[in-house]
This record gives sequence, structure tokens and C-alpha cells, in this order.
Amino acid sequence: MTGLSDSFQRPINYLRISVTDRCNLRCIYCMPPGGVRLMSHEDILAYEEIYTVAQAAAELGINKVRLTGGEPLIRSGLPELMQMLTQIEAIDDISLTTNGTLLSRYAAELKSAGLRRVNVSLDTLKQDKFEFITRHGNNLGQVLEGIEVARSVGLNPVKLNMVVMSGINDGEVLDFAAKTITEEWHVRFIERMPFVEEGAEAVQFVPVSEMRKQLEQLGELEPCLPSVGNGPAKYFRFPRARGTIGFITPVSEHFCFHCNRLRLTANGKLRPCLLSDYEIDLKQPLRSGTSLAGLKQLIEEAVANKPLRHHLAEGYVPKDRPFSQVGG
Ligand code: SAM
Repeated sequence: MTGLSDSFQRPINYLRISVTDRCNLRCIYCMPPGGVRLMSHEDILAYEEIYTVAQAAAELGINKVRLTGGEPLIRSGLPELMQMLTQIEAIDDISLTTNGTLLSRYAAELKSAGLRRVNVSLDTLKQDKFEFITRHGNNLGQVLEGIEVARSVGLNPVKLNMVVMSGINDGEVLDFAAKTITEEWHVRFIERMPFVEEGAEAVQFVPVSEMRKQLEQLGELEPCLPSVGNGPAKYFRFPRARGTIGFITPVSEHFCFHCNRLRLTANGKLRPCLLSDYEIDLKQPLRSGTSLAGLKQLIEEAVANKPLRHHLAEGYVPKDRPFSQVGG
């Protein structure tokens, strides 16, 4: 296998698959206030179709897959898809990003199906903030329980993703960081990216530099290596801490030059950059019986068109889809 690389010689080995555009939460940083027009059921790729795309991608050099959404755990039979993907020999790492509300129900089944680790979005530890951020979600307790159950069935690591928002949850950065000292919490602080159609709830993002300033109150952070993966987060820990802290800086310091990702939307569009509107349709070719070779050609075309970097700094925000419809 020669591997897949784009026109800037970046190796591409990571496919993020959105299995549904539906979500049981309505997070203000992810979905417009008026909601989104949902894809029709016929538009959404069947598991067999997702499997075929993953197989073609794996033949080209993809060895890492993440399932996301919408909320992936609201699509029925997700462990089944997980199991199908583990049959693809070239794929050696399958992970999941979830809001955690259904994790306690599915963690054990997912683990048996081949899942090794999980990322859970957790933006606050306070019920009232949780309701505000998720637009009326009342299940913070279930998320916390899901995290514990995931750990107890051996999913490792469980990483917690916090999108930090000015005036909303930035006051909890210290609380989350303190947890990494006493407990095996792996928290990643993420800069909030802007998206199209934001409403009155649009908030100013907090640069990682400000978060780090706050954290000085707890001690000096030491750089450390991630326990697994080599994504865009930079990892640190406090001396003798049980857990780690990661910083993800899509806005203040983009990491596009090291981007190794492709994204497949729930309705079968292959998107080489989260923050660009360019995408290529795989659903129609899949449904009109294209061969694996044909599919591979389309994947290569998308890769060849992967932009060098995003243009948030120049004020460009993708027009077509909020994050809930791409997979974040
Ligand atoms: N429902 C799942 C969840 O909540 O994790 C998976 C989908 S969600 C789109 C995946 C990730 O996208 C979330 O962890 C969140 O960190 C990230 N995300 C969504 N909108 C974002 C934004 N505006 N800025 C930064 N990250 C965002």
C-alpha cells in the first residue's frame, strides 16, 4: 500500500464518519437556533454503504476511523456498524465521539463490538448551564454516568471535550482542570469555531492563551504525550496529576498543515475540509452500482482538492452546514 496523500504532500489516513444528522441535544455552538432541516431517511447512507466507503478508503490508505454525528448513539444498531468496520483489516483504530447521554446504555456493547476509546462532549458540570448550552437538555446526570460506565467497561482513554465559550462556561475551566489532578480525567479545551446562521446566542470565542492564563492559578503545566492518537491537541499535565489537559486551537493557531482527515457526512458527501464547502457526492455513485475502483477514484479526487488551510482568519465561514451536519 502506497498510502494516500493530498496535493500538499500531507498523508491522509483518517476518516470521520457522521452516521446521522440527528441529535438529542441542540448545542448552541453546533446547531443554529432555528434547528436544521433534517435529511430524509432515504438520503442517509445505510450501514452497508458506509462499510463500502470505509473499505475503499482503507484500500487507499485510511487506517483510522471515528464515528460521529449528529449524535451517533441515537442511530439504532451502531455496535453492528462498529463490528462491520472492525472486519476491515487495514483499519486499526476505531473511535467514537458522543454527547454521552446514551453511553451508559451502549458502552459495554460497543466495547464488545471493537470500540477501544471514546470522546465525550462535556461543556459544563452545572445543570443550569447544561440546559442553556444544549438548549433544554436535562440529562447532564446521564452524561456523567455514561462517562463512568465507559471507563468501567474498559474504554480507554475516555477524553472529555469542552468547547470553551466566553461568559458561558469559561468560568469552569479551572474546575475541569482541577479534576485532572485528582481523577483520571483527560480534558481537552477546544476553541469555539464560528459557523453559519448563528443566532443571538452567538458568543465570543476564548483563545487557548486565555485559558492557559487561568490555569496558571493551579500550577505549572508540563508538556506530555497523548496516551493514544496524534491529533491536533497539544497535551500537558500538572505535576503528579492523574489526568491530562489538551488544548485544541482551530482558530488562534490552526493546525491545517498537519491535517490528515477526510469527513463523510450522513448523506454521503465526502468533505476533505471541515471548514470549506467543497465536497464530493458518493451516495449517488454508490447507489448506481459504482465499483470499488470507481469509489476509490472519487475519494482520490476529494483528497486532491483538499484545501491547504481554512480561512476563518479572513472571515470565511462555510455556508452550507453547521457542525451538527458535518460531524465536528
Ligand atoms: N453529538 C456528538 C457530540 O456531542 O460529541 C458528536 C457530534 S459533535 C458535532 C462533535 C464535536 O464537534 C463536539 O465534541 C464538539 O467539540 C465539536 N464542535 C461542534 N461545534 C463546534 C464549534 N462551533 N467549535 C468547536 N467545536 C465544535
